[in-house]
This record gives sequence, C-alpha cells and structure tokens, in this order.
Amino acid sequence: MNYVLGIESSCDETAAAVVSDFREVLSNIVYSQIEEHKPYGGVVPEIAARSHLEKIDIVVKNTLEKANLQLSDISAIAAACGPGLIGGLIVGATFAKTLSLATNIPFIAINHIEAHALSVRITENVDFPYLLMLVSGGHCQICIVHDIDKFEVIGKTIDDSVGESFDKVSKILGFGYPGGPAIEKIYFEANPDNFKLPHPICIKGNCDFSFSGLKTAVLTASEKCYSIQEKKDLAASFQKTVTEILSFKMKQALSLCLSKGIKITSAVISGGVAANVIIRTALDSICKEFDIPFFAPPIKFCTDNGAMIAWAGIEKFRKNKFNDLNFKPRPRWALGES
Ligand code: AMP
Ligand code: MG
Repeated sequence: MNYVLGIESSCDETAAAVVSDFREVLSNIVYSQIEEHKPYGGVVPEIAARSHLEKIDIVVKNTLEKANLQLSDISAIAAACGPGLIGGLIVGATFAKTLSLATNIPFIAINHIEAHALSVRITENVDFPYLLMLVSGGHCQICIVHDIDKFEVIGKTIDDSVGESFDKVSKILGFGYPGGPAIEKIYFEANPDNFKLPHPICIKGNCDFSFSGLKTAVLTASEKCYSIQEKKDLAASFQKTVTEILSFKMKQALSLCLSKGIKITSAVISGGVAANVIIRTALDSICKEFDIPFFAPPIKFCTDNGAMIAWAGIEKFRKNKFNDLNFKPRPRWALGES
C-alpha cells in the first residue's frame, strides 16, 4: 500500500491529508483562515502567508497522527505549488521540499487546479475523458479531462470567477464572507423571482463565462433595496441567475462534445462553488437530459483541501512523475502545463 501526504496552502486554507492508492482518505485536516479575513471581506495575501507559516507544522503533524502513520510510512510528499498566492505557496512548497530533503521521500509538485479537476476520482470511478466544470474562488472554466495531465479547455471566464462573484455580491448586500454558503442559505428564505438579472454571453454554442455585468446589475439593484427582505430576494435572484448560467453553459458544453463526437464518460463539477447544492441539483438534471452520468465530489473535497492534493499526488506517483527540489512555486500555472 502506498500513502501520499498532500499539503495545500495556495489561498486561505492550511490543509493536509494522507490518502492511499486504494482511495482511502486516512486523515484530512483543514485549518480555514476565514475568521482572519472576515473583517476585510476577502482574502488578504499578507495575513494568509503569515497564517500558513504559523499553522503548517501543527496541521501536518496532526494529519500524520490522525492517519496513525509515521513519516517513514509515506511514499511521496505532494504540495500545491501553484497557481495561487505566492506567500502561501512558498510556505507549503518549502515545507514539503524540506521534509523530502530530510527523509529522502520523493517530492511531487501539484497544480492546484489539476487537483480540483481530479478530485472527483477520490470517491468515484470516473474514467477519462470526462467533461469538467471547474468553478471556484479563483477559477472558472470548462474543459475535457483526457488524462491526469491532459486538459482541453473549451470555455473560460473572460472576467471574474463565479466564487468571486458570490463573495462580491454577498459583500455588497452585507451578508458576509465567504459569500457562497451565505447566499445559498438565504435562497431558501427569499423570493428568487423578485429581481430579473442579466445572463451575460449566454449565446448558443458559446462555453465562455462573464460575471462582471451580473455583479454590476446586483450593485445597481441593491441601491433601491430598502429592507433586509428585499436584499435577501436580490441574493436569491443572483443565486437563481448563476444556476441558470451554469446550466446553460453545461448544456452548450455537452452539445459541443456531441457535435464533435467526443465520447465523454461523464460530466463533473468541482471547486468551491461545486459545494452549492442548488447548482449541483440543476446540473444533474441537465446531464440527465443528455443521458450523461453526473458527478460532484463530496462537499468537503470541493473547497480547498489536502485530500485532493494527496490524490493528485497518488495519480502522479502511479506514473512515476516526481519533481526536483529546485521546483519553484508558480503563482500562475495553467492547466496541463508541465
Ligand atoms: P475555493 O476557491 O475552491 O477555496 O472555494 C472558495 C470559493 O467557493 C469562495 O468564493 C466561496 O464563496 C465559494 N463557495 C464555497 N461554498 C459555496 C457554496 N455553497 N455555494 C457557492 N459558492 C461557494
Ligand atoms: Mg479557498
């Protein structure tokens, strides 16, 4: 049995996990910095970097203890080395490389977006190629995942990411940070049909996204909201509109695969926004129309976590893909770029 230790520190979670090549998640610890960033309504890079530095040793130590393993039982040490905030990436990558140097356990540099893209395979038998909608705080794209390191991007955002839009809208309406979970909760206490919001670039055949116009529409509408209930209705209308946009884009992507004869095995949503049950349910029914199985990782593997980094490590370990200790963290690192 092989065990991989995964370390995540690319944004606002200090996380670590141990995963086996039999898909067993032995431990998965996430220290979320949400409380530290809350007063600012978003992630402050300097605060994030310092917090990773304070927490990383205890998070990794507790992860190994919880897995009931010693470092000597570990077959490889994987760390998210980009894309993300450089301060946090340096902390995680340097910690992992130092452990590797001291123990001779091989080091694997993980692309954080690729880890999101592969995360569904921790719990599901999803074979390549599959269609992936990757929606998180920093990323928003649709691609066909042909292999663990082969991604064909068929659509991406031309401005903001979906997660960022949830966070901004929540900030505008005063519902706090992070916006996604707050708005999802409000949806069930409000009228999502009260406001008509735009669906930018929802054009047949187009798989790209745009959210800045939608954000501006919410800002403009919010200036005429005089009660909390009206603000809640606006948040619910935003949730409904985002769900409709993602459903439309999933439809376009599935149609594109059909028309190009790309035989995908399934469709998948991943990333922080994939934790949204309203969106998961809507995409599931779109995929049913196309007779394509739909999968979403368990919610704890949607937002940033160490298990997806460890799992991506397992996928690379199986193919003997290791990295030198001089690997430098990359704040920008495209999907599939070696
Ligand atoms: P990540 O970038 O993967 O760490 O995910 C964080 C982003 O996901 C933030 O922008 C959150 O607002 C968003 N998010 C987290 N949970 C949800 C949810 N239930 N619904 C919508 N967005 C969410
Ligand atoms: Mg995060």
